[in-house]
Amino acid sequence: MSWNDSNVARLRDLWDQGLPTAQIGKLLGFTKNAVVGKAHRIGLERRPSPIRRTVIKPDRKKARSPIMPKLNFEATKEEIKETPKTQQNFQPVIKNLFTKHIKRGCEWPKGHPDESDFKFCGKDRFEDKPYCLEHCAVAYVIPEKEETEKQQITQSI
Ligand SMILES: [Zn+2]
Repeated sequence: MSWNDSNVARLRDLWDQGLPTAQIGKLLGFTKNAVVGKAHRIGLERRPSPIRRTVIKPDRKKARSPIMPKLNFEATKEEIKETPKTQQNFQPVIKNLFTKHIKRGCEWPKGHPDESDFKFCGKDRFEDKPYCLEHCAVAYVIPEKEETEKQQITQSI
């Protein structure tokens, strides 16, 4: 393989696009050193290309990033702390938003899941809860009481 008008033209073109010399070499069938040497001889200069600039941008963000994970970590920690409590007494907020759009009935199961007549209550839901008013009373009041008792036990220890 040797340099001729057509591959020199391609070299100039690829060089202008800011491709790495190794990449240009692969495309033209030359070694990286051959590409660098030829580019130097025909007076091509390394300029920051559009491709290179987009590579630099994320790097700059990376340099600032040590602050970000710290914030994210704190947010996650809080979420983990609060989630178990929330799930016991209420449906998570995301589920409420999701179910609101679908407008399904009360999700209180009736019968045993293994039996063929198993179904959900299906009555109108109470506010943004997944259950009707009747089943909300069953679902939410009792666990709250249990939790208070549990907390009292923990505190007395
Ligand atoms: Zn119900």
